[in-house]
Amino acid sequence: MAGAGIVVIFDFDKTIIDCDSDNWVVDELGATELFDRLLPTMPWNSLMDRMMKEHHSQGTKLEDVVTVLERTPIHPCIIEAIKSAHALGCDLKIVSDANTFFIETILEYHGLRECFSEIHTNPSFVDEEGRLRIFPHHDFTKSSHGCGHPSCPPNMCKGTVIGKIQASLSTEDQKKTIIYLGDGLGDFCPSLKLGDGDYVMPRKGFPVWDLICKNRSLIKAQIWEWSNGEDFERVLLHLIARNISIHKKNSGANVGKLFSVECKQETMPLPAATGPQAFPQPLHVIH
Ligand SMILES: [Mg+2]
Ligand SMILES: [Zn+2]
Repeated sequence: MAGAGIVVIFDFDKTIIDCDSDNWVVDELGATELFDRLLPTMPWNSLMDRMMKEHHSQGTKLEDVVTVLERTPIHPCIIEAIKSAHALGCDLKIVSDANTFFIETILEYHGLRECFSEIHTNPSFVDEEGRLRIFPHHDFTKSSHGCGHPSCPPNMCKGTVIGKIQASLSTEDQKKTIIYLGDGLGDFCPSLKLGDGDYVMPRKGFPVWDLICKNRSLIKAQIWEWSNGEDFERVLLHLIARNISIHKKNSGANVGKLFSVECKQETMPLPAATGPQAFPQPLHVIH
């Protein structure tokens, strides 16, 4: 398929969904005060497991957590962008510091779960008592994940995950282009791993965008910023279409589906924040 040479890797919190899923669940279940009190005493990831224990002991059912997760804010353009990228044949993956239960529940509710080939995140499961248990992606109580970057939390270095994805892609015949989208500090380390032909889409005004702006010389990938759901869809589909046409020139592949993406972009209203710009522009292009 047209997009087969493209791998799109998404952060989840404040990228696919428009909030932090941990904070959303804690706030919606009315436990913000307890969370804030315990946060200085334990790592974030361990605290979420503890919070689920507290809720379970107070009688909160798993269905209540599911109901809260299903209300998580997500922009309709982001749902459409993910479906379009998947329909074009792109390989979609998630690398997130949330957890499998939160992510899969939200994706399934919106009919998006099958769009993703892999979800790399903190593992979770429901125990025999019906309590949600959440564990670190990397067990930092036994050893460090080995990345000393200050923006990587002890339970997960997303750069290490991206390195493993890149290693597995390098064994395939076709050269793959990676597009990485994120907002947080933990998305900086994976951005550093991207190569010349790759793209990073930092969310404008968010921590990874600040870090990338301050360290542009360290980033080999092209940088394309986005602010909201409309931008997310417009920029992502533009980059996919652009890469499909580059690939088409090189291989003569059929890109019939590409034109539906381009038509959609032409008719899509521009968000007010972009002003007179007719098309998305890269923040920084390395020639
Ligand atoms: Mg995030
Ligand atoms: Zn790292």
